[in-house]
Amino acid sequence: MAFWGVAAGRISEEDNPLATAVSESVKTYQLYINGEWRDASGGETFPSINPSNGEVIANIAKASREDTQAAIAAARQSFERGEWATKSFRARSEIMLRAYKHIQEVAIERDWASIESQDAGVTIRLANLSHVPVALEHFRSLAVQGGEIKEYEPLPWVDMPAVAWNFVNREPQGVCGQIIPWNFPLMMACWKLAPALVTGNSVILKPASNTCLTALELFKALDETGLFPKGVLNIVTGPGGAVGEEIAQHPDVDKVAFTGSTEVGRRIMQLASGTVKKVTLELGGKSANIILPDADLDLAIDGSLFATFLHQGQVCESGTRLLVPESLHDEVMERLVARTKEIVVGPADDLESGMGPLVSEAQLMTVKKYVEIGKEEGAKLVTGGKQPDGLENGYFFEPTIFDGVTNDMRIAQEEIFGPVLSVITYKNAGEAIAIANDSQYGLAGGIWSQDIPEAIQMAKRIRTGTVWINDYHLLNDVSPFGGYKQSGVGKELGMYGLLEYTIAKHIHVAQSNKRADRFIWDTVLP
Ligand code: NAP
Ligand code: MG
Repeated sequence: MAFWGVAAGRISEEDNPLATAVSESVKTYQLYINGEWRDASGGETFPSINPSNGEVIANIAKASREDTQAAIAAARQSFERGEWATKSFRARSEIMLRAYKHIQEVAIERDWASIESQDAGVTIRLANLSHVPVALEHFRSLAVQGGEIKEYEPLPWVDMPAVAWNFVNREPQGVCGQIIPWNFPLMMACWKLAPALVTGNSVILKPASNTCLTALELFKALDETGLFPKGVLNIVTGPGGAVGEEIAQHPDVDKVAFTGSTEVGRRIMQLASGTVKKVTLELGGKSANIILPDADLDLAIDGSLFATFLHQGQVCESGTRLLVPESLHDEVMERLVARTKEIVVGPADDLESGMGPLVSEAQLMTVKKYVEIGKEEGAKLVTGGKQPDGLENGYFFEPTIFDGVTNDMRIAQEEIFGPVLSVITYKNAGEAIAIANDSQYGLAGGIWSQDIPEAIQMAKRIRTGTVWINDYHLLNDVSPFGGYKQSGVGKELGMYGLLEYTIAKHIHVAQSNKRADRFIWDTVLP
């Protein structure tokens, strides 16, 4: 089966005005529908751009609504045929672990870390340590955990004599549309695919248009194993407005799983409501990271910078509101700024780079806009705030800190999704909690303290899905991840995330054959 299309040659300036140099033999990636690689029906493609230098690194098939419908039909038919859906959880888990072995080998052989780095601007250090290996480990771990799901669960009779045998049968949701963002492309693909597959669903994955390559590589690897019945796995690349909306509204899709902005999440919920689809949404955040007066400042300073500037701040749970006690303000600011100035911003493929480019020119524009908004609102820019010198070919932005921020400012309320930290001071713990909770979002947060019992008490009062104490961003693959409030619906990871892809069916089998035992029937019948 073909994977690469014919070498596409040069992209016109018009298609990609940002391209400074285009390789003569840029690869073209196709769609994978019903177990076959194919071009988009209209033959159209769009470029994938390396945000470190604006170069086109690949072309990608641009699917239409019709292509998306074909993928949905293939998924539906495969689900109805039941070759995958009717296997046991254990059997599917074992197949996925066999597939994982191949994925793991080709990820190294084909250097997925470099692909991720070039496609998404992930620094090579981060791609090698996190984006790729953690994604694959989560794929493996979710396959293992999924194998443990009890297909059959007997239910006890609690307050009545047993008149029936009741049990729960765990079944797949059906056809799942999965729409993912550009910040952790391979990891989001694994977080979506692994739980859906191990629980017996058929899927249509739509990657973010900025970052399709590693998800396509993953599908190539899965296809090569020959382990999955055709139609169970489909990947459709193309614009959110066409492919994403078709997935969200199509009557043959049973569930939509989405990660991205709150705005698009709302739209998906609206579209999905037409056929009352199940939805899980992983949306934006504006997480508060609280330094308490007794914190170990060496840890808290570096931790707070890691919390904000990891992957250029393009992380939904980033700790972008730093809450500092008034008493420590001057010391914290001085140390934060000094450490920030030591962060090396540079090309994603450079091993020295601690921060690479933003994913796209559009994202760079958004960040610049918010820096202007912060200044206009009266916050004090203490470091960064501009593109670094000498890196004008890519979408780089300096790590930026605003001091004197109040929680009602837009830079404290709106998700910027870039390297911008807003520092807010507080007087006491009660005020810190109130500020942390004064947000439309509720994804995550951090607390830095040496008094762990007190920090846990505080964590319980913060209305977010995750709270890190003396750490940030680390996600164990058995813990639930997902937001309160407008940060989302449902959970991912662990058994919590796996069960979102199942339905609990109740089956009741009467134990008695006697009409007399069914006295409740007498309320209707003479
Ligand atoms: P986005 O617009 O929400 O995109 C996320 C995914 O949804 C992409 O695959 C996108 O496709 C698709 N999509 C876009 N419009 C759609 C629609 N009307 N119906 C169905 N699917 C649609 O996010 P973004 O534009 O990439 O980033 C914008 C903001 O989202 C960021 O600034 C940040 O605040 C937030 N964000 C959050 C996360 C997170 O992890 N929570 C991740 C990324 C971004 P296309 O790529 O083809 O547009
Ligand atoms: Mg790209």
